[in-house]
Amino acid sequence: MRSSLLSKSFIFLPRKPLSPVCKFASMSKIAPPKTRLRGVVFDMDGTLTVPVIDFAAMYRAVLGEHEYKRIKAENPSGIDILHHIESWSPDKQRRAYQAIADYERQGLDRLQIMPGAAELYGFLDSKKIRRGLITRNVKEAVDLFHQRFGITFSPALSREFRPYKPDPAPLLHICSMWQVQPSEVMMVGDSLKDDVACGKGAGAFTCLLDETGRYSPTDFEKLDLKPDFTVSSLTEVYSLLESNFDLTP
Ligand SMILES: [Mg+2]
Repeated sequence: MRSSLLSKSFIFLPRKPLSPVCKFASMSKIAPPKTRLRGVVFDMDGTLTVPVIDFAAMYRAVLGEHEYKRIKAENPSGIDILHHIESWSPDKQRRAYQAIADYERQGLDRLQIMPGAAELYGFLDSKKIRRGLITRNVKEAVDLFHQRFGITFSPALSREFRPYKPDPAPLLHICSMWQVQPSEVMMVGDSLKDDVACGKGAGAFTCLLDETGRYSPTDFEKLDLKPDFTVSSLTEVYSLLESNFDLTP
């Protein structure tokens, strides 16, 4: 079961986790049976794709400099721009969504796949492990991602699916479509407050992709969100899965 696996085997991986993962692999001989992993759900921007959207500039354009600074000071872990917009008047909201769409479109022009993403996709495919996607970006961006890189995540839920992350609803929806338990699924993403929160809320395993070491244990404590695993590159996910889960198709 998930809880026993976690209590016995949970280790918090430091930023260069390859060697600790290997060390753990030998320890796992005495650990309880590994959890069967039936699906992995990925965030898109900054996880499957290289971050190209200048979020700070986007927030400034939407909120204005003064409001941006105020909200940023109140939310040191990150701004939930969609949440802020929801309470605005329809007219103001329309302009905000327009500004966001402009930044997202610029991001699409420069879209690049994250190193290791295609290989990880192929690995999961070879193990017959389901691959889903949840993003707060729009469906158009997901369609473009699928077309451009020739890999398909299904279901792929964009922000047209409400409520979106960090609500666990999209992940629970994917689990029910797959007919698997959330405890047999891992959520992988680069945002603590969106991806890890969504995964934890659903009762799934969580893996935080932290390429630049921007998160510290203090951040986890502050938000009371501790990912089960942390990696600094998608290429580390492969060995993490092999060491910690039963990947039998
Ligand atoms: Mg992201």
